[in-house]
Amino acid sequence: MAARDLRGEVAAYIPELARVDPRQFGMAVVLADGREFATGDADVPFSIQSISKVFMLALALGKLGDTLWNRVGREPSGQAFNSILQLESERGRPRNPFINAGAIVTTDAVLDGSTPREALGSLLRFIREAAEDDRIHINEAVARSERATGHLNYALAHFMHAHGNLRHDPDLSLGTYFHQCAVEMTCRQLARSGRFLMNAPGAPRLVSAVRVRRINALMLTCGHYDASGDFAYRVGLPGKSGVGGGILAIAPGRASIAAWSPGLSRQGNSLLGTEAIEMLARQTGWSIFG
Ligand code: GLN
Repeated sequence: MAARDLRGEVAAYIPELARVDPRQFGMAVVLADGREFATGDADVPFSIQSISKVFMLALALGKLGDTLWNRVGREPSGQAFNSILQLESERGRPRNPFINAGAIVTTDAVLDGSTPREALGSLLRFIREAAEDDRIHINEAVARSERATGHLNYALAHFMHAHGNLRHDPDLSLGTYFHQCAVEMTCRQLARSGRFLMNAPGAPRLVSAVRVRRINALMLTCGHYDASGDFAYRVGLPGKSGVGGGILAIAPGRASIAAWSPGLSRQGNSLLGTEAIEMLARQTGWSIFG
């Protein structure tokens, strides 16, 4: 990684993301009653990257139900998002669906009986419906850039294939995974797309209330990789980050929050984005801990 800035480093390991101006910051909040607030670069599209893992998990649970958990766990990994370390001793079963290995398995599960195009179509439909916005799209240049430099992800996929935990050709599963990571949204669109995780009366109901709680539990415990504990401590809300610099956080029953700033911490989480959501939570008193 390079491009050091006072506000952190952009994800230079994906060349298309390395070109993003790190001095941007945006934030959007949608309340349970439908009111919306936005500030800064809230209408600039960015690559949602690993935030897509939340939507893919929702799709996978809808398609497979709890059988998904035979192939992926529900424990924080305490390791970097792209680490292969635990896969060896845990025989190819990733710790959770929000680290890369777990997300690749989740995507592979959604691919059962569908082509990558169909699986990505379902994902985009889900996100567009959640946000009530048909403009949300995949940035092909970012997907290509990820494929060209995705050696660690290839290593994870082949390793899991060797253990029988990847059912499709790694090229197909990864092709789908790289494209889901390349979904682009603005803060405003992302905050709207997160409303289904709020369990609020007016929000689109795409997933049952019980499942929403479970997805939120995973976001809280695993959504920021080896900094998930720190995010829970500082912010007190379920959240999911991506190396594009975006964060989606949920105040259950109250608000869906999106923040974006490309400069990342060592663990790959937006530095300013985290700071901003922490300040918002402090000032509003929003916390799942009462
Ligand atoms: N597409 C990125 C990768 O696979 C996603 C990682 C992230 O956002 N943490 O490396």
